Amino acid sequence: MRPYILAENNWKTVKDEHYQLVILPWGATEAHNYHLPYSTDNVEAGAIAAESARIAWEKGGKVIVLPGIPFGVNTGQFDVQLDMNLNPSTQFAILNDIIETLNRQGIYKLVILNSHGGNDFRQMFRELGLKYPKMFLSEVNWYKMKEANAIFEDLGEHAGEVETSLMLYLKPEWVLPLSEAGNGAARKYKFSAMQEGWGWAERRWTSVTKDTGIGDPAKATAEKGELCFKLLTERIGDFLFEVSVTDQNDFYI
Ligand SMILES: [Zn+2]
Repeated sequence: MRPYILAENNWKTVKDEHYQLVILPWGATEAHNYHLPYSTDNVEAGAIAAESARIAWEKGGKVIVLPGIPFGVNTGQFDVQLDMNLNPSTQFAILNDIIETLNRQGIYKLVILNSHGGNDFRQMFRELGLKYPKMFLSEVNWYKMKEANAIFEDLGEHAGEVETSLMLYLKPEWVLPLSEAGNGAARKYKFSAMQEGWGWAERRWTSVTKDTGIGDPAKATAEKGELCFKLLTERIGDFLFEVSVTDQNDFYI
């Protein structure tokens, strides 16, 4: 029973603990090339949240990981069989209820450990922050961190070398042999605005990639996954610890 994982604990323990920070893993249920399971983002979010919370807890941070939300925004993948979509407005409603609970109980810090590129909580946090001004609302997007980039030859974006390496480390029994994987070849918008990042429009996923992957998983290994996982969770664990023990009036330098 890990004291920083709510799902493993009971009222006897929880009722007397003074938690400072709640961590909410948020993933997606979607195809990940031919070789990774639909739960890939949820496995990653749960494992990264748990290990980062362990690091924070052992330093003395009173952090607790909630059960994760397994569905994300998949509006662009509506025609991929059993890719499950939660609309942003539904996510907002879920988040509102979770934050209302925390706010009422006096636990004023929330970090979403996000594992899915279609999820974007920033605008929701702006609106919910107005509604619940005592709450510190933040998201961590591990896939945007650069700590582990040097380990990989092809960073890719979805079900590529990074995610495949992580899954080979975290859940190898759910990964097909790499010979079964597609090459993750992907098309880009023809407009330079999108290529340069100053223009944006949602991509129609099935127009971009045939195997649903973006990025070649061929060079993935469990060893790379383990090293990546360590580098990411050490930094996230430090962040969780720092936020949990820092007074909210003392967040700025
Ligand atoms: Zn993914």
